[in-house]
Amino acid sequence: MIKIPQDIYNKIIEHSKNDYPLEACGYLVGNNEIVIDIINMTNIDKSNEHFTFDPKEQFQAIKYARQKGANLIAVYHSHPASPARMSKEDIRLANDTSIKYLIYSVSEEKLKCFSIDKEKNVTEEFIEVI
Ligand SMILES: [Zn+2]
Repeated sequence: MIKIPQDIYNKIIEHSKNDYPLEACGYLVGNNEIVIDIINMTNIDKSNEHFTFDPKEQFQAIKYARQKGANLIAVYHSHPASPARMSKEDIRLANDTSIKYLIYSVSEEKLKCFSIDKEKNVTEEFIEVI
């Protein structure tokens, strides 16, 4: 379960559409399951099939969250043309069992949330818009 304020939910979609046809990516800042802020990140791959964060921006993002007394509780990225589900590559790269992974499919216009365990089992998580 993740709780996302309506304006931040909209910003994920906006970022995904703005960066189309490339993959957009970013972080959600929050405490426990409640999102309080969004950080748009640069996809340095400039690809429509995968993304990589800019390490400098990642460092800034961690600092920003700490200053707010919060954490980076989720990573989001867009799938310009494929469905909103974890791809094989997404699962391979998802190593943090404590955060959520959100995927917005631009073609389906759907936002979904997932978590992953140590054995790489993916579970879809409920998104509550608050
Ligand atoms: Zn993906």
